[in-house]
Amino acid sequence: MKSNFTYDLLIIGGGISACVFASKYLKSNNTKKVALIEIGRGLGGRSSTRISNRFKGWKLNHGAPNFNISNSKNNLLLKSYIDELLANKFIKIDDSDLFFLNDDSNSESQKKSEFSCGVNYLSLDSMSQLSQKIIESNDLKKKINFYFETLIVDLKFNDKEWVLTSKNGDKFKSKYLVLSTNLLLHKRSLDILNVNQIPLRKAIPLNCDKKIDLLLNFLEEQSFIPRLTFLIYTNENYSYKDFYSKKQRYFYLKNNLENKYKFERIIFQMQDNNKLGIVVHTKNLELINSYINAKDEEVFKHKIITNFNKLFEGNSVVNKLTFDEKISIMKWRASQPSGIAVPLSFQLIRKYRIGFCGDWFEGEGFGRIEGSILSALILEKKFSDFIK
Ligand SMILES: Cc1cc2nc3c(=O)[nH]c(=O)nc-3n(C[C@H](O)[C@H](O)[C@H](O)COP(=O)(O)OP(=O)(O)OC[C@H]3O[C@@H](n4cnc5c(N)ncnc54)[C@H](O)[C@@H]3O)c2cc1C
Repeated sequence: MKSNFTYDLLIIGGGISACVFASKYLKSNNTKKVALIEIGRGLGGRSSTRISNRFKGWKLNHGAPNFNISNSKNNLLLKSYIDELLANKFIKIDDSDLFFLNDDSNSESQKKSEFSCGVNYLSLDSMSQLSQKIIESNDLKKKINFYFETLIVDLKFNDKEWVLTSKNGDKFKSKYLVLSTNLLLHKRSLDILNVNQIPLRKAIPLNCDKKIDLLLNFLEEQSFIPRLTFLIYTNENYSYKDFYSKKQRYFYLKNNLENKYKFERIIFQMQDNNKLGIVVHTKNLELINSYINAKDEEVFKHKIITNFNKLFEGNSVVNKLTFDEKISIMKWRASQPSGIAVPLSFQLIRKYRIGFCGDWFEGEGFGRIEGSILSALILEKKFSDFIK
C-alpha cells in the first residue's frame, strides 16, 4: 500500500553532509518535524563501512577510509566543527603510516596527495559510525524520522509544498527541502532512476527561475569519477611483517606505478578481532571495464591478487596473499565529482525553499569529505536564517 507522509523539512541523502546539516540544524531549530530519506541501508553514503553478512565480524571502510582537512586554518566554521568532533571523541588525528610507493615499490615519505594533504583524521570507530554519531549527538536521533532503502525518483513543487515520490510510490510532502546529493539534479539520474527528465528540471521548468537554470547549467559540466574497491578478507593468520599495531596503514601508488598495477591506493584495516582487512582502490578505466566485462569473476579476482603480490614483492612490511582469501567488490559509479564545482551562492534558493549541500560545491574540499562538511555547515547557517 502507498503511504503519504508530511514533514516541515525533508532531507534527501544520509551521507556525511546530510548528517552534519541535520545535527546542526536540529540543535538550533528543535520544533520542526524532520525526516531523512536514504536509499542505502544506513548512514554514511560514500564514507561508509561494509558490514558483511557473508563474512561475519568484518567491518571494512569501503569508500573514504579517513579524511583530510586542508584549509581549516582559514575557515573558523570548519575549524570549530572539527574541534567539536575531536572533543566528542568521534574522530582523532590520524597518525597512521602513509607510504608513497615509487617504481621499485619502495616507500617514500613525502605526504602529497589529494586525500592526505593538510591534517588527516580518523573515525574512532568505523566511517559509518562517524555519520551515526554525528546524528545521535545531543539526543538528536529522536527528532528525525528515518526512511532507509527509499529511493526518491520524482520531485514536484507547488506553491504550498514539495511533493516527493519514492520508487515504490510513497509520497513525502514538506514545506522545505534539502538535497545532500545532486543525483536529482544531474543527467546521470536519467539512467540511474530510469526517468526521462532530470527530476529538479521537471519540477521547475526552464525559465521559471534564473538561479535554478544556472545551477543546472553548472551541473551539466560536472562529471563523476567511477571507482572500484576490492575488499580483501585475509586469512586467520595473515599479518604484517613488522609489529605495526595502529588501526589503518595506507599505501599510495605514484603515477607510473598506478599505471603499471592499475591500483590507486591500498588501505590495510585492522579489525576488532585482530584480523587484517585490505581495501584496494582503483580508478583505472581499463581495470574497471575488465571487471564489468569479466566472464568469470574468480579469474578476475585471481588477477587482483597476482597484481597485489607483484606490487609488494620484496616489500619490508607487507606479506604476500595466498589466493584463498575472500574478496568482494564495490562498484562506485560516481565516487567523486570532477570538472566544474558549483558556486556556494547556489546553495539556497529561497523562492523554492530548497537547499543543497555535499562535496560537489566549490572550495578546497571539492570532491572530498572536507567539502561535504563545510558545505553542510554553511547551508545550515543560511537555512536557519531563512526559516527564522
Ligand atoms: C572509494 C572512495 C574513496 C574516497 N576516498 C576519500 C578520501 O580518502 N578522503 C575524502 O575526503 N573523500 C574521499 N572520498 C569522497 C567522499 O567519500 C565524499 O566526498 C563524501 O563521502 C561525500 O559525502 P556527501 O554526504 O556529500 O555525499 P554522499 O555520501 O554521496 O551522500 C549522499 C547520499 O544520498 C543518497 N541518495 C542519493 N540520491 C538519492 C535518492 N534519489 N533517494 C534517496 N537517497 C539518495 C546516497 O545513497 C548517499 O548515501 C571517497 C569516495 C569514494 C567512493
